[in-house]
Amino acid sequence: MVHPDEARSIIFANLKRSPVELVPLAAAAWRVLGEQIVAPDDHPPFAASTMDGYAVVAEDPSPWREIVGRQTAGHVAPIEVHIGTAAWVTTGAPIPAGADAVVPVESTELAEDHVIIHSDGLKPGDYVRPVGVDIARGSLVLQPGVTIGPAEIGLLAGLGFDPVPVSRRPRVGILSTGNELVDPRATPGPGQIRDSNRFSLEAAVAEAGGEVVWSGRGADDMDALRETLNRLIADCDVVLTSGGVSMGDLDLIKPLLLELADVHFRRVFMKPGKPLTFATAGQTILVGFPGNPVSAIVGFEVFLRPALRWMQGCERIDRPRLRVVLEEQVRPSDRIEMQRGVVSLRNGALAARTTGSQASSRLSSFVGANALLEIPAGTERLQPGSPINAILTGPIVVE
Ligand code: AMP
Ligand code: MG
Repeated sequence: MVHPDEARSIIFANLKRSPVELVPLAAAAWRVLGEQIVAPDDHPPFAASTMDGYAVVAEDPSPWREIVGRQTAGHVAPIEVHIGTAAWVTTGAPIPAGADAVVPVESTELAEDHVIIHSDGLKPGDYVRPVGVDIARGSLVLQPGVTIGPAEIGLLAGLGFDPVPVSRRPRVGILSTGNELVDPRATPGPGQIRDSNRFSLEAAVAEAGGEVVWSGRGADDMDALRETLNRLIADCDVVLTSGGVSMGDLDLIKPLLLELADVHFRRVFMKPGKPLTFATAGQTILVGFPGNPVSAIVGFEVFLRPALRWMQGCERIDRPRLRVVLEEQVRPSDRIEMQRGVVSLRNGALAARTTGSQASSRLSSFVGANALLEIPAGTERLQPGSPINAILTGPIVVE
């Protein structure tokens, strides 16, 4: 039996970085950037007006200016502005040659072919968006490992990066095992239950940036499971199974992993998820989660989410971990326990409570939870006011 920290080290020692691939810009959202991005040009590429108004020379002392032309966005008109003249400009239009400031139309008055400027203290640069104000040519724009969100993809688009170098999504296979399992659309017969783990793990893999290349269900049958596992080992970077890692005579995943792969640990000093099994076969890592739905999700959250993020080179692989204060009494177990909880900011302090019964079959213990509360192993009850660590899985509740 390994401590969770040691389990994590063993898993990480066996991970491979995903290769970089090029994807179309339009498909790059929420992917992890694979290379650093250096600006090939200034962005924006020309000085432009930030208002509809008149481009002028700021130091011109007279309020009367002759209008010498119009400059709208999208082209460059052959206009030059001097002392005594002004050019009409729209937002986003290039600043005409000779002009160094824009007077918003609201501060002007039209008098036939002249404009009267009602603006004292005009300074060069007023209402002008300079060249390269966002990004200067040659500067480092984005580091590898950043997740491409709205701002990042906008910068990539603005600088002309299409396609975009991203880390390949780790290819993940998911296998639910158990004779009792039926598909969600089926009506379970006597002794049967619907397979939920497959869908929980698919959601968790997607959030962690992985690509589910196969997801299915298998009966507790040695030959059929062997065939499926062999195929997944050949096709996937990561294979996740649920069920069949305990001590029952139909718990076949553990013996199959021993047969088909190198098993690195078979039990973790953690609750839920003690029988979690980790193995490798060639370049593929395999994780056998226990079948209880909470065990599978917690095991994924603690070990696989960081692993998938590391494989993609994410700059931050872990969720924020905070010191919080327990609001209620908690009875510890003989193992480090990851209880589902709610962390809230109350009177300037971070307080934590659990979501009720923590039975590992109770998926509803996740509903409303925004944290995993790390309850150290022990025998003495933790009293309200005790400090503990919390892994934040969602936003803090502000009360
Ligand atoms: P096992 O780890 O195979 O002994 O399963 C432990 C418990 O989890 C049993 O009550 C199973 O019925 C349940 N279980 C196993 N796999 C699933 C699944 N895919 N979806 C929901 N419950 C499951
Ligand atoms: Mg089973």
